[in-house]
Amino acid sequence: MNVADSEVVAAILSDNYQIMTDPKSADLFLMNTCSVRDNAEQRIRKRLRELAALKKRNPQLIVGLLGCMAERLKERLLSEEHILDFIAGPDAYRTLPTLIQDASDGKHAFNVILSIQETYDDIDPIRYDGNGVSAFISIMRGCNNFCTYCVVPYTRGRERSRNPKTILHEAQQLIDKGYKEVTLLGQNVNSYHWNEEDDTIVDFAALIEMVALLSPQLRVRFATSHPKDISDSLIEKIAKHENICSYIHLPVQSGSDRMLKKMNRVYDSTYYLERIAAIKRMIPDCGITTDLIVGFCDETEEDHQDTLKMMETVGYNSAYMFKYSVRKGTKAANDFEDNVPEEMKARRFDEVLNLQQRLALESNQRDVGKTFTVLVEGVSKKSDEQLFGRNSQNKVIVFPKANHQIGDYATVTVTRCTQATLLAD
Ligand code: SAH
Ligand code: SF4
Repeated sequence: MNVADSEVVAAILSDNYQIMTDPKSADLFLMNTCSVRDNAEQRIRKRLRELAALKKRNPQLIVGLLGCMAERLKERLLSEEHILDFIAGPDAYRTLPTLIQDASDGKHAFNVILSIQETYDDIDPIRYDGNGVSAFISIMRGCNNFCTYCVVPYTRGRERSRNPKTILHEAQQLIDKGYKEVTLLGQNVNSYHWNEEDDTIVDFAALIEMVALLSPQLRVRFATSHPKDISDSLIEKIAKHENICSYIHLPVQSGSDRMLKKMNRVYDSTYYLERIAAIKRMIPDCGITTDLIVGFCDETEEDHQDTLKMMETVGYNSAYMFKYSVRKGTKAANDFEDNVPEEMKARRFDEVLNLQQRLALESNQRDVGKTFTVLVEGVSKKSDEQLFGRNSQNKVIVFPKANHQIGDYATVTVTRCTQATLLAD
C-alpha cells in the first residue's frame, strides 16, 4: 500500500521533482512509513539517524516523513526527530508542494488532517520502481473495522471507495502501456462499495469483473480481503474469469474463537472454515495465504494450539506471521494487558513459523509435475539464464529463459521445489 501511495506522491510532485537513483544528489528525501507494529517504526527511526550524514553533506536537503507514522505521532515527531523538515499524513499528499515550500522557508510544516473523501482518484501514479508488467491500483482507503489490536483505522481514517470509472481508466492506461497484471489494493478490498448517481451499487464482485473484462491478457489480483466480506458472489466471479487469479489472501489472525472475539474480528473459526470450504469448492486450485498474530493478550496454550490446528486444516501456501505489538490508542492497549511473556511469544512464534514452513513445502511438493501458466516478471537473481514469474496461485516459479521475454506468458511444468520456490521446465 505504501508503494502505491509513494507512486501517487511521485505524481503529485512530478512538475518540480524527478526521482533520483542516488540519494546523495537529491534535494528532497521522502520516507513513507508504516505504524502497524512498533518494529516498523523503530526501523524508520534508525534510517532517520543514518540520514544525518547525508544532511551534513548537503545542508539544503529537505527531509520529509509521510504516511502512518506522521499520522500517529503528529507534530511531536518533528521535535523528536530533528532531521525532519516536515511531515504529512496519508490524506495530505496534495498539499506536499506547500509543505515543502514552507519547510524550505524554515517553517515548522505539517499536515496530518484525515479526510473522509480523499482517494486521489484523478491522479495517475508514476510507477517509478516497477517492472513494467505488474502494477498496483488503489481502489479504496481507510478502515472501519477497529480490530482491537490495530492502529490502521486511526492512521488511515474512515473507509472510502474510489469512483469505479477512474479505476477502469487507470487499468486501461496500464493495459495500453503493456502492463499484464494489476493488483486492486485496499485495507479491505472486498468491502468496496460505490453508489452510482442512478443509485445502482457497484460492489467488489462487480468491480473486479469490470476490470477483468477490459482484456483477457490482463491478470487481476487483489489484496487484502476481510473474511467477513468474502461473499459467494465474489468467489463465483474469481472462478468464472480465467484472468482473475486463483489466489486469495484471507487473514485469519488466530484459530481461537476466544481470541477472535477479543480481537473484534467479527467472525469465528467455524465461519472462517466455512468460507475456506466455499473457496475450495468453487475454485479447487485456489492458492490461499493468511496473516497470523501470535501472543495476543490473554492467549493461552489452548488458544495457540487452535491457531496451529487452523493452519493445518486450511493448509496455507504461505503466511505473514507477527508477534503481537501493543499500539497506543487502540482498544487492546487501553483495556487489555499485554500479558504473554516475551519468551512465550517467541516460542509460539517459532512453532507457527516451523509449521508454516512445513505446510509451504508440502503445498509446493503437491505442485511437482503440474503445468502452469506463468507471467514472466524478471530475470532470476541466481542466474541470467533463468527467468522468474508467478502462477495464478501467486507462487514464484523459476525456469529456463529459452526465448521468453519479461511480460510474456510462459507455460511451464514444475520439476522440483524448495519451500519458497517452484523450479520448472
Ligand atoms: N487490513 C488488513 C491488514 C492490515 S495490517 C487485514 O485486516 O487483513 C496487516 C497485518 O498486520 C494484519 O493482518 C495483522 O496480522 C498484523 N497486525 C496488525 N496490527 C498488529 C499488531 N498490533 N501487532 C501485530 N500484528 C499486527
Ligand atoms: Fe486493522 Fe482490522 Fe482494519 Fe485490517 S481490518 S486494517 S487488521 S482494523
